[in-house]
Amino acid sequence: MRYYVQHRDDDVSNRLSNTFQQMASERGMQFDELTPEIVVSIGGDGTMLHAFHRFIDQLDHIAFVGVHTGHLGFYADWQVDELEYLADIMSGTRINETIAPRIVKYPLIDIEIRTDEEIKYYKALNEFTLKGVDGTLVAQIDINNQMFEMFRGDGICVSTPSGSTAYNKSVGGALIHPSIAALQLAEIASINNRVYRTLGSSLILPQHHHCDIYSSKPQRIVLSLDHLTIPMDHLHSIRCSVSSQRISFARYRPYPFWNRVKQAFIGTNVQ
Ligand code: NAP
Repeated sequence: MRYYVQHRDDDVSNRLSNTFQQMASERGMQFDELTPEIVVSIGGDGTMLHAFHRFIDQLDHIAFVGVHTGHLGFYADWQVDELEYLADIMSGTRINETIAPRIVKYPLIDIEIRTDEEIKYYKALNEFTLKGVDGTLVAQIDINNQMFEMFRGDGICVSTPSGSTAYNKSVGGALIHPSIAALQLAEIASINNRVYRTLGSSLILPQHHHCDIYSSKPQRIVLSLDHLTIPMDHLHSIRCSVSSQRISFARYRPYPFWNRVKQAFIGTNVQ
């Protein structure tokens, strides 16, 4: 099996990456940084975002596995002390435990950005956000080609179901199970008074709907895409929709989404 390791580039992740590569080579796996079958992310959820964007053109034939070196992760579900077990079952060398992984696919967002000069296409695993640089963002939001509302406020966050536990949660969006192919549009500090009005709650679009965000005045805008930042001076509009592509995770054991949510946000000792 061809594999690649993406790590967070801190001392712990560096060391673990070397250890894993040593174990993998002893078990007959081949390190391949260009066309791996499995990408092991060692670090946190942020490391998985880096791994995703590194191999974004090969999503159809790569499966991702996450090992977390800090607190519990949403994309990283193996712990540091399970590294050898992971190498064993990935390579099929553990006696009586040749486990074929279950491939779990999570939805992504397609983002089409139109500026005065060009159209660019992106994908997000967590979300993209749109914010005004010099103050209030003014943007018209259309749903399925119909004007929905005029937004004024700090910004807009459009997230995937697996990204719903990240930035989206901080701005009051709902958590969505990643088996639901949907995108969520959440407001970041919208202005609501007698003059300006927005929905005031987040909304969730199904796979066959799309949403356009038009920059309604000349304004400097900053766009974040997962961990990446894209400054944008001449934005015309952004179309977002649920992507027809998905990210694949190799699951060697069950780890239900709601268990992750509970462990991450509520804790296990709360009665
Ligand atoms: P970062 O600022 O270093 O880390 C942001 C935090 O978000 C980390 O604790 C990270 O977990 C966590 N995270 C990432 N994806 C998650 C997910 N799907 N569910 C729950 N938590 C998640 O930035 P980064 O590591 O480069 O990650 C970029 C992400 O940070 C963005 O996609 C955005 O979602 C998030 N972010 C959140 C806020 C906010 O909540 N106000 C603001 C900016 C960015 P790990 O420690 O495991 O990596």
